[in-house]
Amino acid sequence: TTAPESQPFQAEVAELLNLMVHSVYSETDIFLRELISNASDACDKLRYEAISAPELITDGAPPKIRIAPDKKANTLSVVDSGIGMDRQELIDNLGTIARSGTKSFLSRLTEAKDGTNLIGQFGVGFYAAFMVAERIVVTSRRAGSDQVFVWSSSGGSGFEIAPASDEEAARVTRGTEIVLHLKKDAAKYLETHEIERIVRAWSDNIQFPIELVPEEGEPRQINSASALWQRPKSELSPEDYKQAYQQIAGAFDEPAMTLHYRAEGRQSYAVLLFAPSTKPFDLFDQARKGKVKLYVRRVFIADDADVLPAYLRFIRGVIDSEDLPLNISREMLQNNPQLTQIRKAVTGRVISELESLGEKEPEAFVKIWDAFGPVIKEGIWEDFERREKLLGLSRFTTTKGEKRALKQYVEDLKPNQTDIYYLTGDSIERLKANPKLESATARGIEVLLLTDPVDAFWTSGQLDFGGKPLKSLSQGDIDFALIPLLDDKAEDKKEDSGADEATTIALIKDALGERVSDVRASQRLTASASCLVAGGDAHDRMLERLLAMQNK
Ligand code: ADP
Ligand code: MG
Repeated sequence: TTAPESQPFQAEVAELLNLMVHSVYSETDIFLRELISNASDACDKLRYEAISAPELITDGAPPKIRIAPDKKANTLSVVDSGIGMDRQELIDNLGTIARSGTKSFLSRLTEAKDGTNLIGQFGVGFYAAFMVAERIVVTSRRAGSDQVFVWSSSGGSGFEIAPASDEEAARVTRGTEIVLHLKKDAAKYLETHEIERIVRAWSDNIQFPIELVPEEGEPRQINSASALWQRPKSELSPEDYKQAYQQIAGAFDEPAMTLHYRAEGRQSYAVLLFAPSTKPFDLFDQARKGKVKLYVRRVFIADDADVLPAYLRFIRGVIDSEDLPLNISREMLQNNPQLTQIRKAVTGRVISELESLGEKEPEAFVKIWDAFGPVIKEGIWEDFERREKLLGLSRFTTTKGEKRALKQYVEDLKPNQTDIYYLTGDSIERLKANPKLESATARGIEVLLLTDPVDAFWTSGQLDFGGKPLKSLSQGDIDFALIPLLDDKAEDKKEDSGADEATTIALIKDALGERVSDVRASQRLTASASCLVAGGDAHDRMLERLLAMQNK
């Protein structure tokens, strides 16, 4: 054997560990959930690889997870017979954080008073173990390999990596053994009842058997080890669903929506999906990747198969197909016609579920809308087929109030009003002070006040809802002539001023020359004298600015 080699942690990891040790986070129990979840992922990966390489599971023993406390040694071991890691994987996976946005997230975390909430959004994963352990030793054998490596660290700035001794190699025949040398105040995690409590609370739905190996007596299975999504709805309680959500999504919040059903027919599959009630930290990551897990007959295939469109990337959960071929490669998933069918059906179902939640449980729906509305609105821009449905789901702040649906807007149309009006801008306050609202306000016409950056994009298409076109108050001709003013006196004033309109326009045109394409009298304003608008076919001004900003 060669001498151990020291390696530094990536700066972000060192920073995260520092945060963990100086515990911004008091829920130390979750370290076990994180280790079990990694062990379960490793078992999933082994089953997947064994489809094309059955020799990887040579002993025929199905993958499983074992938890072994040792009071004498003051250690807790979490052992799995999953895929394992080779030397490079140990270095990469346990020394860096690959997720983009980590850096900015960590600085937010350092500043935040309530780190607990934020860290839940991030998911600390493996590194959570440093909350309870002063030293961690990971011994791992990649399935099928004759080499075993040992990774060890006491936190701080780095770790060591070395080939395993013969004794260690003999102990780890496949997969990963993680030994936590517990801190003094973490001794409770050596108690079997504590371990059982945590597993029941957090990890009962792990598909693989979790065995508790007590210091005395026989090992015993302590989870139900069934795929929850395969069980009938009638057997499951809200608590079961909450646990499944938190375990599948690695989340800490409550699901705001749960969708569990089985489709039969041309395609048979089980669906268990959740909408979180809080935003994850990487919601606006450029990659816009979804995280719904695709299984085929209980075997995990991929969590990046884009089973749902990008604008539903916040939905978490599992789709388990009975019909897809098990040996489908990740590359083939993109163009597989069966998956395309599933994708279409499930997307439709998620949207209709959101619709009915909006009607039946508006409070739960508003939670989802507050967290993910801007993401859902991306769909108005890019999912032509479902545009009207997505517009229907959307909630807006308008001159009449908050969380208004277009359905309500249309029901409240003024006599002779045929269009839906909106104005885009940076903030509600500034929009409310915008002179372009004056004439609409004078007529009691409701105006959508749009302030999300994405609003400039979806509104740039020709849109209508229920046959009513959407029109920007800062674009083209607005004709309010047929809609009566609320206050008749204002009407009189307007007629008075009509006389010298032509002269005024001529004067202004003269003064501005080439800088404007036209000067027109308009009913947009009542109190202000003039305002600048884009031509009917020009980009909305907000989009113009956004595009200019991005091209800088
Ligand atoms: P995440 O699970 O979100 O990827 P973690 O910090 O929990 O992040 O784990 C980092 C990576 O380390 C995992 O993605 C996996 O590649 C690897 N890993 C951790 N534990 C195990 C294990 N028991 N077996 C195999 N690989 C593991
Ligand atoms: Mg993990």
